[in-house]
Order: sequence, then C-alpha cells, then structure tokens
Amino acid sequence: MEKGKANDSIMLDVNARLQTFKHWPFKEDCACTPEKMAEAGFYCCGGENEPDLVRCYFCRKELDGWEPDDDPWTEHASHTRGLCPYVNLGKKPHELTVMDVLSIIEPERSKCLMMKMHDNWADKFNQRCEDKRREIDVCAPK
Ligand SMILES: [Zn+2]
Repeated sequence: MEKGKANDSIMLDVNARLQTFKHWPFKEDCACTPEKMAEAGFYCCGGENEPDLVRCYFCRKELDGWEPDDDPWTEHASHTRGLCPYVNLGKKPHELTVMDVLSIIEPERSKCLMMKMHDNWADKFNQRCEDKRREIDVCAPK
C-alpha cells in the first residue's frame, strides 16, 4: 500500500496532526502556523525533503507552495471546491461530535479515498494507452 494512504486514522486527532509540523517553515507571525494548519485539517506528509507539503486528513487533498500570509481554511476551501467534508461541516476540531465523525466525516472520507484511487487508476490507464500508441506508431510508421 502506498505510504500513508489509508492507515492515517490517527490524524483524525488535531493533536496528532499538530505533531507532524516539526519541519514546518512558518511559525510565529504567519497566517499558516502549525496550530492553524492542524486546525484546518492538515498534517505534514512531505518529510524533510518537502517540509511544506501537507495533506487534508478528511479529503486527502495535498497542497504545497505555502506563503506566510496564506490562510489554511481559505486555501483548503478554494482548492477542494466543495468536496471536503470537513470544510463543508464548518466546525473547529473541538466542536466535532462523535455523530459528525461517524455519520458524515468517515463516509465522506471513504468517498474521497475512492475518488482518489479512481483518479490514480485513470491516470495509469491513460499512461498505458499513451505507451501502447507509441509502440504502435513505432511498428507502423505513417
Ligand atoms: Zn479537506
């Protein structure tokens, strides 16, 4: 299984997300401090090589190229276009109820996971079509 693909359930917890921001470049006086990033659903997944690569636990959107003035909630909403169950719910981590998680967040999260898997599959399929087309072109030059 791809690293961090589906067994990141611990990241439902805002404190677990917060602890992933060890190498995060934006600390004090920024709009995207680790606290605000974790609160907006993100955790770091890029390691030391890509310290500003984050993933949303809830919709699995990955974002990098952060600027100190970027607001995590605004960026999250604008890049997921209504597809993130956490953004749609509009609650802070401490406001989430068990019912929110069980009846909305987790089912929607599964949907996001499946969509992501489907996208990956479609990418691979298209890549293979492309490769085959090239092979055919080599065999039968125009
Ligand atoms: Zn999200």
